[in-house]
Amino acid sequence: MYDVAVVGLGPAGRALASRCAAHGASVLAVDPRPSAVWAPTYGIWGEELGALPERVVRHRVRDPQLRARGQHSLGRDYLVLDNAGLQAELPLEGVSVRRDRLSDARVAALRAEARVVVDARGARPGGVVVDDPAPAQTAFGVVVSEEVAAPALQGAEGLLMDWRNDWTDDPEPAGPATFLYGIPLGEGRVLLEETCLAAAPGLPIEELRRRLRHRLGSRGVDLAAVDSPLEREIVRIPMRGRGAPPVEGTLAVGVAGRGGHVVTGYSMAHSLGMADGLARSIVEGRAPEEVDPRGADDLVREVGLRALLRLDVPGTVELFEGFGRMPVELQRAFMSRDSGSAELVRAMWEMFEVMPVRAKAELVRATLGSPWRRTP
Ligand SMILES: Cc1cc2nc3c(=O)[nH]c(=O)nc-3n(C[C@H](O)[C@H](O)[C@H](O)COP(=O)(O)OP(=O)(O)OC[C@H]3O[C@@H](n4cnc5c(N)ncnc54)[C@H](O)[C@@H]3O)c2cc1C
Repeated sequence: MYDVAVVGLGPAGRALASRCAAHGASVLAVDPRPSAVWAPTYGIWGEELGALPERVVRHRVRDPQLRARGQHSLGRDYLVLDNAGLQAELPLEGVSVRRDRLSDARVAALRAEARVVVDARGARPGGVVVDDPAPAQTAFGVVVSEEVAAPALQGAEGLLMDWRNDWTDDPEPAGPATFLYGIPLGEGRVLLEETCLAAAPGLPIEELRRRLRHRLGSRGVDLAAVDSPLEREIVRIPMRGRGAPPVEGTLAVGVAGRGGHVVTGYSMAHSLGMADGLARSIVEGRAPEEVDPRGADDLVREVGLRALLRLDVPGTVELFEGFGRMPVELQRAFMSRDSGSAELVRAMWEMFEVMPVRAKAELVRATLGSPWRRTP
């Protein structure tokens, strides 16, 4: 009998398996590709690094900016993680690793082999769902050289979100707004990614590719380099994770559970930050009944997601103009998966307060009124 079985060795599962082993537990880990280096470009905020050493950082952006109507410095370092370096900091020494892909039934059956069974198989353990109706963040990105990217960044060191509407020529564009995520990765490379923060269903990748090309072309970026990039990235993040209760008798962590931020789609900082505490409680025989139980903060974030899914393009730009003008601690409260409901409400109220009257009305309509986009 193992103390704990962890199914899925993405960031959430690996961090937990590693910390359980470090605290002396016998650990079984199961993943179809246990030694694979994670492919996504992961970012977290500087203060979220916690006890992790600097060598897990691939690149540090010291002055990330947000652009909406105005230009705003976000006042915190933004870190691009070195996935291989991070995995090395989360060793699996002493962990029994099994190469396998498990169904729900086989995850449940592990209860015969381990006292605690953790499902960390991600949001879609069966693979991509065709015509997935769930709200999702989608993005299409290219990695290009610094020289190629320079006209896109327009002097900024990095653009966390550039909400300007140059993805289209239409002066009154319809459909969900998208932003440019333009982040240097180090070694002369830059990721330029057109991102739809949330739509239901997720905005198609082909539309994002078209918008990215249009935006970059209008800024004078060499489109031949965009069409033959150094790398491509496709992002698909179901905003509510699995969106289903955990397999009976198991704990769900990361985006298999409710570890993701339903407005930003981010979960890395939360999964890495909570792994040690959860590992301790498992090892000490006081595993919780549920990881990330639903709280008042979730209700507030759901209101934010609902608004995002229904806002028109000018309303979205104004919302993030409000975000850019907020003090950094309120920005942090809005973006962190670990904020409490009181600070979240304060942040969202502050965003609302600075919006012009028309945008306020649009935000109220989007939050309370009838949807113009489907929100399952
Ligand atoms: C391209 C991309 C970029 C992202 N960027 C960021 C970012 O910058 N910052 C941030 O915080 N978040 C980001 N996210 C969102 C989120 O944090 C990631 O999705 C993150 O990988 C979630 O970690 P996880 O361990 O919960 O799940 P996953 O990373 O999905 O890991 C699941 C693991 O389970 C394994 N698995 C799957 N099915 C089975 C099965 N049936 N049986 C056994 N094992 C299985 C997989 O092989 C994988 O190793 C990004 C997501 C994507 C897709």
